[in-house]
Amino acid sequence: MPIRDRIRPVVCDLLGRLVDCGHESYIVGGAVRDLLMGIEPKDYDIATAATPEEVRRAFGRRRCRIIGRRFRLAHVYAGSEIYEVSTFRRTPTADERSERLDDDGIMIWRDNEFGTLEDDATRRDFTANALYYDPVGDRGVIDLVGGVKDIEERVARAIGDPMVRLEEDPVRVLRGLKLVGQFGFSLDPGLEAAIRAKGPRIALASQSRLFEELLKILATGRALPVLAAFQNYGFLTAYWPAMAQEWDTPVGDMTRRVLEERDRRIAAGACSLSKALALATAALPWVTVRLGSPRLGEFWEHTEGVEHHCREAVQEFFAPFPVSRLFTARIRDILLLLPRLAGHLRVGRLVRHPEYKYARELYALVGAVMDWPPERLSQWPPPEGEPAPRRHPAGRRRRPRRRASDTARNDTT
Ligand code: ATP
Ligand code: MG
Repeated sequence: MPIRDRIRPVVCDLLGRLVDCGHESYIVGGAVRDLLMGIEPKDYDIATAATPEEVRRAFGRRRCRIIGRRFRLAHVYAGSEIYEVSTFRRTPTADERSERLDDDGIMIWRDNEFGTLEDDATRRDFTANALYYDPVGDRGVIDLVGGVKDIEERVARAIGDPMVRLEEDPVRVLRGLKLVGQFGFSLDPGLEAAIRAKGPRIALASQSRLFEELLKILATGRALPVLAAFQNYGFLTAYWPAMAQEWDTPVGDMTRRVLEERDRRIAAGACSLSKALALATAALPWVTVRLGSPRLGEFWEHTEGVEHHCREAVQEFFAPFPVSRLFTARIRDILLLLPRLAGHLRVGRLVRHPEYKYARELYALVGAVMDWPPERLSQWPPPEGEPAPRRHPAGRRRRPRRRASDTARNDTT
């Protein structure tokens, strides 16, 4: 099917509106890359010559919000989804950067100067991620950096000098290796050398941004190959120390096997995308050992203080990611339900536990890997609809509107 016909109609409408208002506008980044590789994009980023205020004028205040203080973006609502519309930008000049107190001359913290389409293409990270698509006019794919050929050849290549580009923003190391793990790209030799040299600088990046990246990786359905790429290029130690330390141990072996099974289930659409469940899945082998199980695949004693030890084990495994108290509590609850489920022929009260659904799902997943008796599972009733929403310890939070990148399934928390 031609690319144009595979784009979500609502995205074409949105771009049509901007173009009708006189603003050059395109789909950009991962969506164009995915379409060229025959994959359905999970989100669409939109780049435009319009300023955020002009975007708001085009859609009206009810459909558009401007977000961000320095890096200002427009969020446009279409149905229940939000699309990110960003104005073409350029890399700041040395002079502009020297005016900023927080700029050390190396790391780029924000690039918020508006620019042309050409500027916008060259400030992006890799050639494969810097393509534009025009679904309204007749320009089709716009390739200013040689990205089409690199996608055809599955080569990850930095735009500009890779050493400089990865130094400017160490998260690009992670993004380059995602191309390797997620889509089977190879690294251009210059980029490979830069990844090996600059990987440890990831410690300078914001840990909450890195944790968000981990959650995204666990939802790709290619988590194991992405983490394997991190490990193969010496990046995992700096990014996720406990996982790197265990990579070749029995704990790491079981973790890789459960992640592989999870990837398979995600690809088959047979796995909830709950973030708490994703983290609990990865943490189970580590926690099993920390809680004193005699063997991997067997459970720990439910002794006094087990909640506390489990929470600590979860925190240690994910350090230095800032896993929130709520997430840690949910991961702990999912894990601690497992031996209780395994020990009860009649599950009784456990069915009403808010995490029952996820504990049951995790039991099924790990059971498939560890050859646990499947009859057990069939004795437990299916969950009663969705788990009850939990309150945040710090009080009630407003539920944010879903970004178009979030999946259509409603169990992503
Ligand atoms: P996906 O959304 O499938 O994970 P993506 O490449 O679209 O992949 P996004 O985080 O949605 O990732 O970013 C959109 C685009 O913004 C990228 O394709 C790239 O062009 C640009 N971009 C994102 N992060 C960076 C960065 N750290 N440095 C330079 N450009 C970036
Ligand atoms: Mg994207």
